[in-house]
Amino acid sequence: MIEIDGSVGEGGGQILRTSLALSMCTGQPFTLTRIRAGRAKPGLMRQHLTCVNAATEVCGAEVQGAELNSQALTFSPGRVRAGNYHFNVGTAGSCTLVLQTVWPALLMADAQSHLKLGGGTHNPMAPPFHFLERSFAPLMRKLGAKVELSLRRLGFYPAGGGEIEVTIWPAADKLQPFNLRERGARVEGYADCLAPAVPRSVARRELERLGGALGWSDDQLREAPVRQNEGPGNALMVTLVYEHLTEVFTEFGEKGVSAEKVAYNLVREVRAYQVSEAALGPHLADQWALPLALAAWKRQQAATYTCTELTQHAKTNFEVIERFLPVKFSTGASGSDWQVNVQPHVF
Ligand code: ATP
Repeated sequence: MIEIDGSVGEGGGQILRTSLALSMCTGQPFTLTRIRAGRAKPGLMRQHLTCVNAATEVCGAEVQGAELNSQALTFSPGRVRAGNYHFNVGTAGSCTLVLQTVWPALLMADAQSHLKLGGGTHNPMAPPFHFLERSFAPLMRKLGAKVELSLRRLGFYPAGGGEIEVTIWPAADKLQPFNLRERGARVEGYADCLAPAVPRSVARRELERLGGALGWSDDQLREAPVRQNEGPGNALMVTLVYEHLTEVFTEFGEKGVSAEKVAYNLVREVRAYQVSEAALGPHLADQWALPLALAAWKRQQAATYTCTELTQHAKTNFEVIERFLPVKFSTGASGSDWQVNVQPHVF
């Protein structure tokens, strides 16, 4: 039984999701105490509970403490079962975080799985659908893991109602770690504005401001088509495509925040990435750790990546991963960038 203290480092929901994911992948049970102790409202919120329930369904786990607001959980996984699953957060809670919990285990299964996930598709503090589709999934395919995503309906806070579908192919014996030290040549850059049920003038102002600040032409600025049954909500996204990877940066519009401010915040994020030479931005840097560690463990082969920032979130994730997998993370600064290495233990 692995004992995890949910208050360490970041003290947030990622400790739960990484623990669930790797418990399923390795068959090791765990207890998690002081769940999300670092957050203003600790314990399992609905989104976290949906993650626990989804994991339980995928592997037939025995679970104690799976209740709203619970601050302790015991999870004993069974065998991971590929199949068709439907998980609904039931609020505008992020459905991509539910995916983050179950996909590693489903990669380890012996057959293809198909998931329908309902909830928020574009939430602050969660990977937006387009980040997963354009940035994360292509890297996963390079790692040997085929994952395909499609967006059925956008879902924003607070209305929710979004839906995505995901197909995951088995990859346990296909994973191959690789180094990601450089972005490679720049291929293209563009911005999209999602603004269903929001005045079109807002989207136009966001894109114009962004385009002006980045020196982009009109054909790099896209207003996404509006569908009838979506929204209200607003996300402004910048996609930078390089030879070796694609990065997606997202900023959210909300009542009381001007279109100019949304564009300005996003420009700051994009510039911080552009002035650096590291391969991964801050969000990819924490999310890439788990699949890379799985591949390093399976192949008994080390791998490295560079990143623009080493967030507390990433460091906490490394610590939790090391509790479940026989791997060791090491990090080093190079100028203002970072290098992360994951090394399997040699017995
Ligand atoms: P909580 O305790 O409230 O549940 P948490 O630990 O689950 O918090 P965060 O720490 O904010 O939530 O991050 C959740 C995940 O979402 C992280 O993997 C983070 O990298 C990712 N994420 C957040 N914002 C973005 C973004 N704009 N693009 C891509 N990924 C993002």
